[in-house]
Amino acid sequence: MSYVDEVIARVIKENPSEPEFHQAVVEVLQSLRPVIAENEEAFRKDALLERLVNPERQIKFRVPWIDDKGQAHINTGYRVQFNSAIGPYKGGIRLHPSVNLGIIKFLGFEQIFKNSLTGLPIGGGKGGSDFDPKGKSDREIMAFCQSFMTELCKYIGADTDVPAGDIGTGAREIGYMFGQYKRIRNLFEGVLTGKGLVYGGSLARTEATGYGLLYITEEMLKCNGIDISGKTAVVSGSGNVAIYAIEKAQQLGVKVLTASDSNGWVYDKDGIDVEALKEIKEVNRARLTEYKKYRPDSEYHEGKGVWSIKADIALPCATQNELDLEDAKMLCANGAIAVAEGANMPTTADATDYLMEQGVLFIPGKAANAGGVATSALEMSQNSERLSWSFEKVDKKLQNIMIDLFHNIDDAAKKYGFEKNYVVGANIAGFEKVVTAMNAQGIV
Ligand code: GLU
Repeated sequence: MSYVDEVIARVIKENPSEPEFHQAVVEVLQSLRPVIAENEEAFRKDALLERLVNPERQIKFRVPWIDDKGQAHINTGYRVQFNSAIGPYKGGIRLHPSVNLGIIKFLGFEQIFKNSLTGLPIGGGKGGSDFDPKGKSDREIMAFCQSFMTELCKYIGADTDVPAGDIGTGAREIGYMFGQYKRIRNLFEGVLTGKGLVYGGSLARTEATGYGLLYITEEMLKCNGIDISGKTAVVSGSGNVAIYAIEKAQQLGVKVLTASDSNGWVYDKDGIDVEALKEIKEVNRARLTEYKKYRPDSEYHEGKGVWSIKADIALPCATQNELDLEDAKMLCANGAIAVAEGANMPTTADATDYLMEQGVLFIPGKAANAGGVATSALEMSQNSERLSWSFEKVDKKLQNIMIDLFHNIDDAAKKYGFEKNYVVGANIAGFEKVVTAMNAQGIV
């Protein structure tokens, strides 16, 4: 059995009931085969892959909090500190009822390669809780965030592990968590990113994931002889990633036709009104059913459906495994030319294979959505020098990071004979830097 197959079999056996983690490991290790084959003996001797797929540390803790009626609740908190070979652990905190250890491990594993691809010195980590922020009052959110941080603060720090936002964790939650960290540790430091602008946050961090997604999509299309301007796009999601992806897409001359939330989706043939979306989601924290009030000619549908709309570009920006084989077939039948993942692993493995076989340009999340964490690393730099940079400066750096990132993965794919396979390119380019650092640091 090859070393890759051995390690995959072990991961599946030793981590039962973690299908998303298996999916992420299989996807990465399969595409690393050519690199591993060149070094099989040395890697095996050093148990390199076993060390790569085993988190350096995983923390699981109880999060008690009391609701507005006086009822106590218990949630589970997680922080997986996956790999610190190239820098302090870095990665978001997901608050969603679907969260379990396997989900946090899949996200943490992906984060290692994503963070490496940014070219910045950040290791991979992820955290979260099965707490559901939906329908909770402000006070309940604060109570949860304070309790979560009361435990988490023992394990993180500006030079150790720097969490940030993810699904369910935005500026409000980061504020409450930062306040509690500072109170307990008596340290005003850049321990979290995505902070408010008046207490150490970075301009353009809010926009960064969505903007970065469009910068890299534009570059990928350009390098394939296609102008992004004048194209149509379907977007899923209506959170931070989707909103700023839609905004930047429109600035680049793309007409975005859809958005969605966990209940349903909207189709606006005249192009999504991003200001209305911001008001519904960022200000009112309401459902997408509200969209019709702003745009009476739009359509609202219950359930899932954005991938059935004809468009040139698909940008899945909601959550894992939201675009399956049937969706991929619909996109291809409708003539889609590109899929770029704004969320983490939104495309199932068989859908990814199908899209690539059909010649659709496909850019995986660990490359396409890396602009968020890259800008978090820029926030860390600003915190270290106790300065804040202008929006234009951060945005320009983000743009350059995404363009360099694209060429880096494109070159890696070409070097190993997988031209235009950006999945293989991203995994190889992300892996090479981490492995070089791991080898230099001995068996730790
Ligand atoms: N949660 C985001 C991601 O998946 C951002 C992480 C960060 O900024 O640390 O990359």
